[in-house]
Amino acid sequence: MILLNERFLERDEVTIDIEDRGYQFGDGVYEVIRIYNGACFAMDAHIERLRRSAEQIEMILPYTLTELEENLLKLVEKNNIKTGIIYVQVTRGAAPRAHHFPEGSSSVLVAYVQSLDRPLTKIRNGVKVTLTEDIRWKRCDIKSLNLLGSVLAKQKAKNKGFEEAILHRDEVITEGSSTNVFIIKDQAIYTHPANNLILNGITRNKVLKIAREKKFQVVEEPFTIKELLNADEIFITSTTIEITPVIEIDQTVIAGGQPGPVTCILQKEFDKLL
Ligand code: PLP
Repeated sequence: MILLNERFLERDEVTIDIEDRGYQFGDGVYEVIRIYNGACFAMDAHIERLRRSAEQIEMILPYTLTELEENLLKLVEKNNIKTGIIYVQVTRGAAPRAHHFPEGSSSVLVAYVQSLDRPLTKIRNGVKVTLTEDIRWKRCDIKSLNLLGSVLAKQKAKNKGFEEAILHRDEVITEGSSTNVFIIKDQAIYTHPANNLILNGITRNKVLKIAREKKFQVVEEPFTIKELLNADEIFITSTTIEITPVIEIDQTVIAGGQPGPVTCILQKEFDKLL
């Protein structure tokens, strides 16, 4: 079943207007929430980020956050999903085509669930990634439907047979095309600060909390391509790939081609939260 605003419908009963602004302009925001054992992981943080994303684009959500949370939980139950994800998006709704905000349109919320196993092989063995220029706009903190910059970067990685594209603005590493990036050097953990150039990942924040609890030094400051390539360990994080070690960047082997010890400690602690 699909959630369309407040209604639960079969997929073939759902219709989206051809003038929906999400469809024509990418004028909307979204979230991806993990389901483990039939329960939603970090639901409050995702709802709060959706609220913030909507606020940043001056879009009013169709109903309250409490109602949204209740409806998403019902959606998971109705579909009887054990391990998977919820995708929820809200657009500025349908209106005659014009770039500026329409008057009197109502936002449209669509959510669906999908079974998706944890990518345990990648989490255990690590992945290879490529480096590519960050060509996205300067509001990457908004989880907006405009994903072309990420789509093109991810395709570059895929063409090379790699899992992810790590993005850089000039010499500075920002994040991955759909992940946050962390490096470890001399036991200290570095990641880009949560500003307008990255999405402040929910998994990122869980990792930072764990790292501080485990008394690692945490540095939320920009680091360079050179520092990335010279790191002792690298890992990427997201709702779907959790904490995934990076073992190679283009031709450079990281941590001897294996998940590093600090990464493994963080993974073990993260697993306890699930
Ligand atoms: N950065 C970008 C650009 C993303 O698209 C995502 C997730 O889709 C992330 C980071 C990771 O965010 P989260 O941990 O909330 O899934």
